[in-house]
Amino acid sequence: MRGSILRIPPHYLFSRGEFLKSVYLLYFVILTTTLYSSDIYSIYFDSKGEPHRGEWVLSLNDTQDSAAVLSEYLGFGKSLVRKYNSLVYISSQEGSGYIPILTFHKLGSGIHFELRPRLFEELLIYLNENNFYVISDYQYLTEDYTRVEKGKKLIVLGSDDASTGTFSFNTLGDHKTGTFIMNHGTYEISHDSMVYFLNRYLPEEEGRRNFTFYLTFDAIPFRQTGGGYNPGPPYKSMFAVLAKLKYLENNYIIGNHTANHLFSEELSESNFVSELNGFYDIMDSYGVDIRGINTLAYPFGIGDLTDERQETVQSYRYGNATLKGAFDYNGYFAKPLSSGDTNGFDVSRVGVDNNSYVKIKTLLGNTDIFKSRRAVIIESENYLFDLPSLDLNSNDSNYILIRN
Ligand SMILES: [Zn+2]
Repeated sequence: MRGSILRIPPHYLFSRGEFLKSVYLLYFVILTTTLYSSDIYSIYFDSKGEPHRGEWVLSLNDTQDSAAVLSEYLGFGKSLVRKYNSLVYISSQEGSGYIPILTFHKLGSGIHFELRPRLFEELLIYLNENNFYVISDYQYLTEDYTRVEKGKKLIVLGSDDASTGTFSFNTLGDHKTGTFIMNHGTYEISHDSMVYFLNRYLPEEEGRRNFTFYLTFDAIPFRQTGGGYNPGPPYKSMFAVLAKLKYLENNYIIGNHTANHLFSEELSESNFVSELNGFYDIMDSYGVDIRGINTLAYPFGIGDLTDERQETVQSYRYGNATLKGAFDYNGYFAKPLSSGDTNGFDVSRVGVDNNSYVKIKTLLGNTDIFKSRRAVIIESENYLFDLPSLDLNSNDSNYILIRN
């Protein structure tokens, strides 16, 4: 929003045409002044999306929490509150519908586990044009939808294995073994890799993009040597791998896909823990901050998750890192955890490849997708609001809290 400081003096908080209503409200305000110390006003936007009018909705006394009262007033049920500067975001964790979690493996023309770059791009454009908002795996598990404006459809995206086409640099000569081309001090990201398309179409959220790369070290991550020699796992001396891990750490989200991508179901609990530890050891050795790596994707999926395995993952800890949940590969759209239908340590994801692409895109179009319900409260000590400088949009339910 642009424009100058918007001033809403008390007598402007009601539309001018609603004089009679305002008289009653004034009467009410006088009556309740001794009881209530704050008022919440709903903000209305004009046709250009500029805030232009406030209308009283609730009064609070000193002991009441404004977010809790407003959440109840809006029928949000269980909700999450996040404060940021002078804004309070409240999002409902309850609602109907599915949150699809899509998984990619490679970009390419093969039928299984590969998706043509053109289709990957087309899908990202489709999501932008059809009111989807991509949340992270971690936000899905913590049911934190406070960054999603009201009415948006939730979806989760990520890729497994760090394989071909996930993240490539342009090379001199052969794509797998050639040396990287440097341009103005940085490597050129290849135009047929996921990271290129994501940088182009996936909006940033607080300095990063919500796409989780589940990494493993059973082969050279991202399948490029950059011209260096291949030292074998964990490829530590390869600057090609280090450069990409650092890039993902700063711009995306990294997930644990275990050190060696073994069949999880065939491993004992202690061997499975070794595989989890091995992954974090490698990340640590590369200097990647492991505190932000809080999600797991079982390599080859997990089939029927046993109680023992769930307990292993749930109680797992490596330094400051714990696993908030874990993802399987069941092939159907998941419901949010609040539905009670989804186990946070066995969450279904759907693989997207050239074989399943059309079917999945059709499903996205005719499935009831979980929609964000969010309200925003602006807290103010007085009647002077610099609304245009705040990150508001007219799609949300916006409110101002005024302390009397
Ligand atoms: Zn995998």
